[in-house]
Amino acid sequence: MKCKRCTARAEVQLRAHNVAFCRPCYLFFFRRQVERTIAAHRMLAPTERVLVAVSGGKDSLALWDVLVELGYDTAGLYVGLGIGDYSDASRVKVEAFAGARGLPLRIVTLEDEAGGLAVPSVAGATRRPPCSAYGTMKRHYYDAAALEGGFDVLATGHNLDDEAARLLGNVLRWQTDYLARQRPVLQPSHPKFVRKVKPLFLLGEYETAVYAFMRGIDYVVEECPNAVGATQLVYKDALDRLEHASPGTKLGFVKEFARKAQATFASAEPPDARACAGCGMPSYGELCSFCNLVREVETKRARAAARVSA
Ligand code: AMP
Ligand code: ZN
Repeated sequence: MKCKRCTARAEVQLRAHNVAFCRPCYLFFFRRQVERTIAAHRMLAPTERVLVAVSGGKDSLALWDVLVELGYDTAGLYVGLGIGDYSDASRVKVEAFAGARGLPLRIVTLEDEAGGLAVPSVAGATRRPPCSAYGTMKRHYYDAAALEGGFDVLATGHNLDDEAARLLGNVLRWQTDYLARQRPVLQPSHPKFVRKVKPLFLLGEYETAVYAFMRGIDYVVEECPNAVGATQLVYKDALDRLEHASPGTKLGFVKEFARKAQATFASAEPPDARACAGCGMPSYGELCSFCNLVREVETKRARAAARVSA
């Protein structure tokens, strides 16, 4: 098979796009896809400071790499969740990536920040699934770090497979409030928040893995141990079958949702936010969801301690 751009021997075949590329042309293709997505959705302006949330996985490190290649002013943010060996391994990869390229990196660890509230203990105490506890906590630290560092935008490495699985889940249950927020660009609803963007939302897992491999990026291959068995994986599997039978299905599903359908779900203005009584970040109730979670854990711990001493 030959490269579509230069006719050299092709190294990668992309069935969804019906093309094949050699290595240099694939890297060119990948960068151009990201550039086009950024431009089409007005994700980033050239002078903006971008905080890239990096987990140590292929997607977020590939994203950081490509944003640097495209000339953006970036810093990385790693949130250590305290999920044992998995978190340690992820942190090492992120630090090595930033160190080798001389890029600024911020590290927040939950054990140090939220009164020792790492994800396993929070999930255990509140009986919430770890991913849900983590979602609430990581969003809080993304917002806090972006505000503190004076960044204009926060970028995450969500890829096409993530977005297609999430969209399928939201559609199967007609979760219209979630569909209203499933966008590649989320504008800030409060001056203390920043814009959130997903520049890789039209590039699949395979495509980011190939990019990371070709660029020599060393990343954590294991999935988060908490992801095993998650419904998300069932949706991903179903979508993989559809994609296999009909290449381009995922891309069409996500791209056309963004283009044609998303706006019909977008609700009116969000309610006015006020300052959270706990942390001062914008909140729609007295406490934000992060502080609510922290309070719930503290209350349960206090009760357990009282039981022990009684
Ligand atoms: P996930 O929520 O694990 O599917 O990851 C989606 C995106 O969130 C990743 O591509 C990263 O941009 C970001 N992310 C996930 N985990 C972390 C973490 N521990 N620290 C910083 N960013 C993260
Ligand atoms: Zn709060």
